[in-house]
Amino acid sequence: MIIDGETHRGAGASLALEDPATGETIAQIDEASAEQAEAAIASANKAFAPQSAWRTMSPAQRERLLHGLTDAIEAHGDELAELITWELGAPLGAARHFEVNKAIETFRYYAGYPTKLHGHTVPLGHDFDGEYFAYTALEPVGVVAAIIPWNAPLMLAAWKLAPALAAGCTVVLKPSEDASLAVLRLVELANAAGFPPGVINCVAGKGASVGQALLAADGVDKYTFTGSTSVGRQVHQAASRTIARTSLELGGKSPSIVLEDADIAAIAPALAMSAFANSGQVCVAASRVFAHHTIADQLGDALAQFAATLTIGSGFDPAHQIGPLVSERQLDRVSNYVDTGINQEGGSLVFGGARHGESGYFFTPTIIAQLPDTSALLREEIFGPVLTLETYDDPLDVCDIANTADMGLAACVWGRDHAVVQRLARDLRVGTVFINTPPFPPANIATGGFRQSGMGRDLGTEGVLGFLEPKSVIDRIGPAA
Ligand code: NDP
Repeated sequence: MIIDGETHRGAGASLALEDPATGETIAQIDEASAEQAEAAIASANKAFAPQSAWRTMSPAQRERLLHGLTDAIEAHGDELAELITWELGAPLGAARHFEVNKAIETFRYYAGYPTKLHGHTVPLGHDFDGEYFAYTALEPVGVVAAIIPWNAPLMLAAWKLAPALAAGCTVVLKPSEDASLAVLRLVELANAAGFPPGVINCVAGKGASVGQALLAADGVDKYTFTGSTSVGRQVHQAASRTIARTSLELGGKSPSIVLEDADIAAIAPALAMSAFANSGQVCVAASRVFAHHTIADQLGDALAQFAATLTIGSGFDPAHQIGPLVSERQLDRVSNYVDTGINQEGGSLVFGGARHGESGYFFTPTIIAQLPDTSALLREEIFGPVLTLETYDDPLDVCDIANTADMGLAACVWGRDHAVVQRLARDLRVGTVFINTPPFPPANIATGGFRQSGMGRDLGTEGVLGFLEPKSVIDRIGPAA
């Protein structure tokens, strides 16, 4: 645990951390106790006090600290990537060149913000009873509790920490019990980079214990959460007790719409990796593919051919492109969805469909077609390397299906007819539409969901605004007219 700038041993239960590529225990993590979670919040409040080193620091100095931390992440990139591969199983190249680089991109982007955040003046001028000078200021929202999942631990820590720190907030970060090593190391690097004690605290452990302690505690001004819709609902409910601000980045079930004029051979690899990257453990995975009926067979063949080229195995072997699922629980969950889809719901297996190997939690990239509309595979977030294939006649019908789904996180559109592509971009009620590109959010544009995919936005300008409160100041400077 990192509380008030110091590293402590967790005083809660001892948890075994498994290497998902082998199922072997690679580390013991002592989770934080409820008292330690409360101490972290108290430390964040102390660091946020009006005369603290952090609150009196100039925006330019805050920028220097953020750039310093970004430099440290760059310098320790290989080490951080290895930690991610140990705990998540992700291929080392993807951990380094995707996840670590995304964290760097996010910190570098927000490092430029502190000196550019400001309010505006409002011309009240002479009013009925006097002369006024009025302005707004943007103030940090205060103490932020950030709860993040395991699927992209370093990148998602960056999505929360970088804008919160740029805004001048203090933070208590809780990584998932399945992936806390890279995040703890990141917070160590932050403290070494010179952030004052208490500005960034980290309490690791289970959601049911440490997460709940953060939700039950007083002294949190904002909860920012990424994870499942069901836990997001609990965060929302708990925050309502004190009207703490919340932003929730929740589940997705993102459609990938392939128009009849799409260049199938050219797009198949990117389309497949939109569902299979990180073994499908991606909130914006575009895994529900809708193909125009004239090209559906050709697309199914091209996707299967590409899936057959993917190599599966330990993330430490550079030859492997697909690593394991994070845990046995996740392997069971994905296996159950696929088994039900094929053996009970009559889905047609185009590729894969089973666990890969006998040790570790690997699952073969899988493509399933002809599922009934009621299938859970078409409605629920699988969080595994599973792509479903459906056909349509009119793309606007797909828009209706997407817009009436519970989730509205993202969508992909693949095709060349500009009018159709732009009409879909306009009409799809989702947080982000990716056109002819896989769903990987850049740091400088907002990401988040409609409906049960969440509220508020991470990244971009909206991401930092979510950590700021506008304050209005109305100053009477002259006597009544
Ligand atoms: P959760 O929503 O359970 O976990 C997300 C974070 O919340 C973790 O830090 C977790 O801690 C914590 N948490 C869990 N329960 C509570 C609680 N009662 N109170 C406070 N905090 C809590 O996601 P899972 O990791 O269990 O994944 C389940 C499913 O959620 C996935 O299969 C996927 O469908 C979806 N998901 C979506 C993500 C997205 O980015 N949209 C990301 C991750 C998951 P801990 O893990 O330590 O228990």
